[in-house]
Amino acid sequence: AGSDDAQMVRQQLRDADRLHHVHSFTDHSALQQNGGAFIAERGEGSMLVGEGNIRLLDAMAGLGCVNVGYGRKEMAQAAADAMQDLAYYHSFQATTNPHAAALAERIAKAAPGALNHVFFANSGSEANESILKLVRAYWRAKGQPNRQHIIARDYAYHGSTLFTTSLNGLPPMHEAFGLPLSGVSHIEAPYWYRQGGDLDPEAYGKKAARSLKDKITELGADQVAAFIAEPIQVTSGVIMPPESYWPEIVAICKQEGILLIADEVVTGFGRTGHWFAQNHYGIEADFMTLAKGLSSGYMPIAAAVISDKVAEMTLQQGGAFQHGFTTSGHPVACAVALKNLDIIVQEGLVERAAKMGAVLHSKLNTAIGDHPLVGEVRGMGLLAGIELVRDRKSRSHYPLELGLCSHVANAALMQGVIVRATGNSLVICPPFIITEAEIDVVVAALVAALEQIYGQLQAG
Ligand code: PLP
Repeated sequence: AGSDDAQMVRQQLRDADRLHHVHSFTDHSALQQNGGAFIAERGEGSMLVGEGNIRLLDAMAGLGCVNVGYGRKEMAQAAADAMQDLAYYHSFQATTNPHAAALAERIAKAAPGALNHVFFANSGSEANESILKLVRAYWRAKGQPNRQHIIARDYAYHGSTLFTTSLNGLPPMHEAFGLPLSGVSHIEAPYWYRQGGDLDPEAYGKKAARSLKDKITELGADQVAAFIAEPIQVTSGVIMPPESYWPEIVAICKQEGILLIADEVVTGFGRTGHWFAQNHYGIEADFMTLAKGLSSGYMPIAAAVISDKVAEMTLQQGGAFQHGFTTSGHPVACAVALKNLDIIVQEGLVERAAKMGAVLHSKLNTAIGDHPLVGEVRGMGLLAGIELVRDRKSRSHYPLELGLCSHVANAALMQGVIVRATGNSLVICPPFIITEAEIDVVVAALVAALEQIYGQLQAG
């Protein structure tokens, strides 16, 4: 009877959700037809548990954020302790709290180059939006208010607010909303596998970078404020820039005097096997965006990290910084983020991401690298993208409407493994505590899923 009761409660919750809960990036009519959403209830390590006893190996770490793994009691304790001491106080004007102060210092010390000033937000979108306002403030303070144009890239994802959506290089996110806003341009992404043509990665990386220079020339340098980019574009299938790309981009930004924003919302805090992807690529940006891995998703918190050069012009000239959120620097979120960083350091999780990442890539390449549906396996650290193709030689795709990647991801889910389908690629970015045995389970599920869907395609 106990289990019947539990089933009834779940059904009530599913109905409540179906009728009232608006989900992010979801086809709500399909959700209705499919009887509503899966109810996630618990997490342990790399495992997500829902609907009572369904155990799924979460090779996505939520949305690429639960880096220290699920179910960490010490994180819950840090939240409880901080909440009992001081559940809330703001950081407007001359007030702070111990956790916000300590976390700001900690981020500044870890961040590359002169990124020494930390503004707290609640999401990556808000952090980017905050940075974009500081970009405008910077150029006004420099006496160049015409510099307002922001250059972003095709395939980019920077958030879901009006301006950050405008920066996204994903047209379906624009269409329903009459976006992008004016003042945004997109340039080519460094997508060698798809756009490299006859060029080798090195030559193509330089060519893709030069599209930034061309765009600046077209717009007029005196109109351009900043270039925003993810060091590795994750949301669109882990687009890996050739090694020649970033040095060229950094040089162009310097030559043209435009600000560089490195959006490390996914890549920050160890995902690539480096503390920040900028460390690998030798980027010293004027701004860095952090979210997800800052608290491993245990609390909503994000950070806009600002360089000395920008801070001097915008924050240290007198006059108020007219921007902020009620919950910026929230004491509980900051305490949890500090505990998260303690765990990452104490358990050597950045080094572990590098080590287990090498294991993941090697096993993926061995098991599926030659599969007829697999065009390319790419990535760095515990971040992998698998591009699916119709024909390996011509690199052509099946039509997107066929939903090939979703079918493969669903088949993997039936095997008990969560991976993510995005466009023509699958993404894998598991928690850093994933074990080799769990990686074997992920790879085996992918092999089975690819075989199943390939079989169906062959059968017509
Ligand atoms: N920037 C990047 C690179 C992201 O991947 C994301 C989210 O996936 C964001 C920004 C937006 O972060 P949030 O969803 O916390 O607003």
